[in-house]
Amino acid sequence: MNITHAYAAQDAKSKLAPFEYQPRELREHDVQIEVMYCGVCHSDLHQARNEWKNTVFPVVPGHEIVGRVTAVGGHTHKYKVGDIVGVGCLVDSCRECDSCKEDLEQYCENGFTGTYNGQDRVTGEITYGGYSTQVIVNEDFVLRIPENLDPAGAAPLLCAGITTFSPLHHWKVGPGKKVGIVGLGGLGHMGVKIAHAMGAHVVLFTTSPSKIEDGKRLGADEVVISKDAEQMAQHTNTFDFILNTVAAQHDLDQFITLLRRDGTMTLVGVPEHSHPSPQVFNLIFKRRSIAGSLIGGIKETQEMLDFCGKHNLTSDIEMIKMDEINEAYERMLKSDVKYRFVIDIDTLRAAG
Ligand code: NAP
Ligand code: ZN
Ligand code: ZN
Repeated sequence: MNITHAYAAQDAKSKLAPFEYQPRELREHDVQIEVMYCGVCHSDLHQARNEWKNTVFPVVPGHEIVGRVTAVGGHTHKYKVGDIVGVGCLVDSCRECDSCKEDLEQYCENGFTGTYNGQDRVTGEITYGGYSTQVIVNEDFVLRIPENLDPAGAAPLLCAGITTFSPLHHWKVGPGKKVGIVGLGGLGHMGVKIAHAMGAHVVLFTTSPSKIEDGKRLGADEVVISKDAEQMAQHTNTFDFILNTVAAQHDLDQFITLLRRDGTMTLVGVPEHSHPSPQVFNLIFKRRSIAGSLIGGIKETQEMLDFCGKHNLTSDIEMIKMDEINEAYERMLKSDVKYRFVIDIDTLRAAG
């Protein structure tokens, strides 16, 4: 098997730098994928800097992968050489527990195998992600990319798309519902597009006044500057659902008070430091809920891709070269991304 060229962080304090590894052998149900594009998720940065305290170094991040099939195992039936496919955050799970049987592999009770920083269920090796020239993935965890979608713009759907689609779908967002999306980053901008396509009345909450115009262009009916208490107060008790994508610790009460009776705010952002505990009073007086949601299962990810194909939805991307990744991380920390960096993996191939 060809050596794989990649970018890895060697420890929490180092920048990402060129790295090579020998991929595992192609197994019977595997698909070998030449990576074309890989989105840059804020989780990649959290992991590369060990902010969740579970990173195994060296780490090769990247779980928004779109590529071309270059080989398949002897018993692989779902894909053939030449297909344009996607890989998201999961590459395996136990397949036996209740969650797996219900197509909710992300909640696998025996722990799903992450696309990177996971542990291969056969060899025990640590998995490496999409900042790589190729990946090898079991066919059951490979997704089909709708033909009408631009492959680079589709890459972020594999994490940012499904992580917002899944809770919007689960909490039944649609016509007649007033929905808030907090944070206009990678996840948030997909949340705005998807909630709009689902037919809801969408309100974007942003800390960045410079994003007001974009918020409306992307599908928000209203944009609220969350630092402006007066603007916030105008929406008290009115939201059916709020999806909070913020990647940093912040005050949750300012959003909880905007929920109507029985409303829910679902957190998908995973900041390094937890949020301060919200006020119990704000929850009990209107039977409001705070919830969490993790990416989405494989079946639902394919449904999301097909939904995006039908509505012609892709991510607004800024394409970068592989060696621009460290600068991209710094810009992501300043909320300066419009609205997802995507790495052109040909630039890694050319350098190798
Ligand atoms: P991102 O592109 O950096 O976007 C985060 C946005 O949050 C920023 O653009 C900014 O939007 C807002 N923000 C940042 N700092 C803030 C602060 N201090 N106060 C208020 N707002 C702030 O990140 P992302 O890739 O969308 O990821 C967001 C989070 O979701 C990360 O923590 C990531 O690890 C997590 N995640 C979770 C899952 C899951 O399954 N649950 C999946 C993927 C990612 P404005 O400029 O509009 O305010
Ligand atoms: Zn992600
Ligand atoms: Zn399982």
